[in-house]
Amino acid sequence: SRKHVGVLGLGRMGTALAGALLGAGHDVSVWNRSPLKAGPLLDRGAKLAATPAEAASADVVLSCLSTYDSQQPVLEAAGLSGRPLVNLTSGTPEQARTAAKWAASAGIDYVDGVIMAVPQQIGTPVAQVLYSGSEPTFAAQRDVLAVLGTPVFVGEDAGLAALYDLALLGIMWSTMAGYLQALALVGTEGVTPEQFTPMALAWHSAVAGLLPGIGEQVASGDYATDVSALDINAAGLAMLVETSRGQGVSTAVPAVLRELFDRAVAAGHGSHAIASVIEEIR
Ligand code: NDP
Repeated sequence: SRKHVGVLGLGRMGTALAGALLGAGHDVSVWNRSPLKAGPLLDRGAKLAATPAEAASADVVLSCLSTYDSQQPVLEAAGLSGRPLVNLTSGTPEQARTAAKWAASAGIDYVDGVIMAVPQQIGTPVAQVLYSGSEPTFAAQRDVLAVLGTPVFVGEDAGLAALYDLALLGIMWSTMAGYLQALALVGTEGVTPEQFTPMALAWHSAVAGLLPGIGEQVASGDYATDVSALDINAAGLAMLVETSRGQGVSTAVPAVLRELFDRAVAAGHGSHAIASVIEEIR
């Protein structure tokens, strides 16, 4: 059913959120520090609010600013008491918990969300958005949130979505760093990204297929393997570090992994699966 949604913040992401809500037929009021950014949304039927409080007199309010610090004064000016707030600004678990405490003291029903997508993916199912905080509020606003992407509720601790966010981003950054290391390495012999990327893609999805098995070993603490032992992988990493150095590229990325794997071997995990490295990480 049609709702009135207030959107605070019209950066790249806030604009995409408001656009998806308009596309789904909701009434959307928007506020941004720089009101000129609202232009294209107004053409599509959004209402420009002169103040955060004006945008916040809605059934539900979404906020998406750069940081928690820039957002807090805006939320305080919005006078949200008695209304549901879905905070989509990225931050740390601690910042989310602090915001949830503030919201509780101000009588605001608070849900914290993190967007695992770029603005261009908003409004499509590939955009996963993770939520934590008040489950009844999430359930009551699920129809609106489902417009933005696929909503996933991860728990009542308001900091959980931010924790998932950073954990998932860590996977993204490690993967990208590994890919960039690979491009630099093969690039020393004139291999282009265009030539190399098809193999990287096939390899990446083969590796992705190993994650559930690694997860099961971590869950059970049983690191027995008949696939590939840690000592062989540690030796391979040593070769990657040496070869990177020999080819004249940075060893920073593989050296960090080598150090970790070597520590796990030294701790007695040489004949165990790679999953055993978690003992050193912990
Ligand atoms: P932008 O830089 O495009 O937009 C930032 C927004 O914050 C603008 O609306 C800006 O207002 C506002 N803002 C900044 N400082 C202040 C302030 N002091 N007072 C009032 N408003 C302020 O960022 P994005 O839209 O890309 O990102 C917004 C949030 O979404 C971030 O937390 C980001 O981590 C998260 N996110 C972004 C993704 C992306 O791919 N872009 C992906 C996933 C999450 P003004 O227009 O006036 O400058």
